[in-house]
Amino acid sequence: MMLEPNLNPNVIAVLDMPTTAIVDPTHLASQAVNKGVEQGGMAHFEESIVSIQSRGDHFEVATNRGIYQTKVVVNCAGLYADKIEALLGEPSFNLEYRKGEYLVLSEDLPLVSSRIIYPVPSPLGKGVLYVPTISGRSLVGPNAVDVESFIPQPIQDEAIEDMKSENESSAF
Ligand SMILES: Cc1cc2nc3c(=O)[nH]c(=O)nc-3n(C[C@H](O)[C@H](O)[C@H](O)COP(=O)(O)OP(=O)(O)OC[C@H]3O[C@@H](n4cnc5c(N)ncnc54)[C@H](O)[C@@H]3O)c2cc1C
Repeated sequence: MMLEPNLNPNVIAVLDMPTTAIVDPTHLASQAVNKGVEQGGMAHFEESIVSIQSRGDHFEVATNRGIYQTKVVVNCAGLYADKIEALLGEPSFNLEYRKGEYLVLSEDLPLVSSRIIYPVPSPLGKGVLYVPTISGRSLVGPNAVDVESFIPQPIQDEAIEDMKSENESSAF
């Protein structure tokens, strides 16, 4: 309570995780690209992989802009990773989707804590967090709802109720 005086006074114990950090995700990603380019790599933007052919000792990767020969393909396509794998044959995994929404609090509100505050995890995941961000605004979320697909869906008012009810027993 001395470190984070705004915690819920009903909190009886906390687990401190000093390795948890808050980053500016845009800056982190652009720095990763810059480092790669500094070390002789190339970055291509707005380019979509449309086919991958195995050519024995290498792969031929076709995009909407060109064709590349490479010895290694790293599939890091996030929610599209199964589609990329399917370009080479029968996918070895199926993705299951869970949607979460965050509330972005007004910048006029003071920060509640200087650290991310996690609740005890629930069966659906890490639970509703309080996240102070680098911009000075804070986030509360996410809720967690299993969904059939990852097609963007409208923000749902129920998400706010979900988070409020989960937060009744929370640390903040
Ligand atoms: C609102 C929100 C808040 C989050 N907050 C946190 C957090 O606080 N902490 C945390 O640890 N995680 C958080 N996450 C989760 C985190 O963002 C993801 O786990 C992470 O971004 C996944 O990274 P990735 O590189 O695997 O996939 P992605 O970031 O999804 O990257 C996949 C990339 O592949 C590209 N791609 C897909 N198909 C093709 C194709 N055919 N050709 C070329 N490129 C393709 C996509 O354009 C994309 O750039 C959050 C996620 C969301 C949505």
